[in-house]
Amino acid sequence: MRELYQAADRVEAQILKDHLQVEGIETVIVGDQLSGAVGELPADIYPTLWVLDDDDLARAKQLTEQYFSRPPVSGQRWRCRVCGESIDAGFEICWNCGSPGPNDNE
Ligand SMILES: [Zn+2]
Repeated sequence: MRELYQAADRVEAQILKDHLQVEGIETVIVGDQLSGAVGELPADIYPTLWVLDDDDLARAKQLTEQYFSRPPVSGQRWRCRVCGESIDAGFEICWNCGSPGPNDNE
């Protein structure tokens, strides 16, 4: 088992774990449930993702870098109310007709 990535929080660790699982790489999150359980470790330890199979480490690192170099995605795909085009999450306006998306009140 090899250390792959130290996440900022439990949610980020879980997202990455799920992402790698889809790619066939088994990982385990260490350090997210320590409060009250293991007295000698600091309570503010960050959850760390470990690759179970050492042979997957290089590929897992590559996938992790690719994953975090993507633009942030804040929601799900949405459909333009004007022209009906399906738009990727992260776009605030329709790339087809320029109409604002459902998040334009933010
Ligand atoms: Zn449109």
